Formats: sequence, structure tokens, C-alpha cells
Amino acid sequence: MISLTDVTKVYAGGVAALAGVSLRVGRGELTAIVGPSGSGKSTMLNVLGTLDRPTSGSVHIDGHDVGRLGDAELSALRSSRIGFVFQQFHLASGVPALDNVADGLLYSGLRAAERRRRAAAALERVGLAHRMDHEPHELSGGERQRVAIARAVAGEPPLLLADEPTGALDSVSGAGVMRLLRELHAAGTTVVIITHDREIAEGLPRQVRMRDGRITEDLDQGHHALTGVAR
Ligand code: ADP
Ligand code: MG
Repeated sequence: MISLTDVTKVYAGGVAALAGVSLRVGRGELTAIVGPSGSGKSTMLNVLGTLDRPTSGSVHIDGHDVGRLGDAELSALRSSRIGFVFQQFHLASGVPALDNVADGLLYSGLRAAERRRRAAAALERVGLAHRMDHEPHELSGGERQRVAIARAVAGEPPLLLADEPTGALDSVSGAGVMRLLRELHAAGTTVVIITHDREIAEGLPRQVRMRDGRITEDLDQGHHALTGVAR
């Protein structure tokens, strides 16, 4: 699903946020990426989500060589193949949950009625059928993150990338969000989760540790979920 080879990312000012990273993630894996603040986790997520291009090295996502795609092709790949979840939810304020999710399908080519139907189905899937008409400020943090997850998966992307999805939540809501991400993984989605939370990282089948823009450890934690998955 994901293949990074010798990827570097040097920001203006000379910071090498990624200093030569190679990583393969197979279809159907559930992987944690952990590391101290500033170690390059978000940069890596942005590169593997095709939100940002590397300075050097190659990125393949779902069989596509990202470096060979133009910006329009890249955004088409992204909108059809990748769902994103961020720490701060990134929902539109003043907009009901149903429309927040449906608007995530704006570039899908689906008609408005079908976008709303799929949005409603995604909200049901995350346990928020009773909150469709609520605006973000009427929802708890955990509910907001579940709306954001519904938006990320409404188009049924094969790959879900989450950057500190529980970082702004209390432990009970965070556990609910993790349960949901595990369910999506169990249903076949490849899931990559950046987290600061050691307990979360240690509970996932694979843990990739980063420091100073490099991968320092890549642990197969031997859980059932990796059985039969080829990297
Ligand atoms: P993490 O998510 O692990 O905290 P980041 O990927 O956000 O790490 O950042 C890695 C390094 O790159 C840090 O030193 C950070 O300051 C720097 N960095 C991140 N984004 C930018 C940017 N847009 N411009 C310049 N430097 C950046
Ligand atoms: Mg970060």
C-alpha cells in the first residue's frame, strides 16, 4: 500500500525533517508511528499522504509512483484512495455533522443526494446516527473526532492516515476513537496512526519509532492482525 525509499524532506531554512527514510506498509496493516516532538512524524504522514512532496527519494502509494504524477492526478489519487484524520478534527464550524461529512465527498463525482446518503451511512458506522444535525460546537471532542473519521472514510478509501487522533481527547473518548480505528482496520482498511501515547502504540501490531528524521526501530509486535500480511 505504501512504499517510501530513501525519502528526505528539507524545509526552507535547511531543517532536514526527514533524513533518509525507507518504509513499506502492506495492505491491511495497522501501524503506529511514534517518536518525540520534532522527530518528523507529521512530515512523514504528509509525504505518505501526498500532501507534500519529498525533497528526494521515491514514494509509491497503492501502486502509483507519486513523483510521476502531476498535481491534478495527485489530488485525484488522494481524494479517492486516502482518508485523513487530524488531532484538531478540522471540521467546518456552523455546519451540521451530515454536511461536514458529505462535503468530504465534493470531489468524488457523486451527486448531492448520494453524497448525503453515504455521509449518513458513515455517521451511522461511527455511532453518530443521532447527531447528524448537530454542529461541531454541539458535540463533545470524542464525537467531533468521530465525525472527522466518518468524513475520512465516507468515500471508502483503502488507506487511512491519522496524526495524533486522540491527542486532544480525554482517555475515555480516546479509547472510543481507537476502538473505531481498529474496527475500520478489521474491515480491511490499511491504517497508519501517529501517536505520542505509548500504551496505544504498544497495543498495535506494528510500531515504527522515529528520531531526528530517521526510523530507529520497526517492531513487529506479533499480534494476530499481522497474520498473513505481506510487507
Ligand atoms: P513531529 O510531527 O514528529 O513533531 P514534524 O514533522 O512536525 O515533527 O517536524 C519535524 C521538523 O521539521 C521539526 O524540526 C520542525 O520544526 C520542522 N518543520 C516541520 N514543518 C515545517 C515547515 N513547514 N517549515 C519548516 N520547518 C518545518
Ligand atoms: Mg506532529
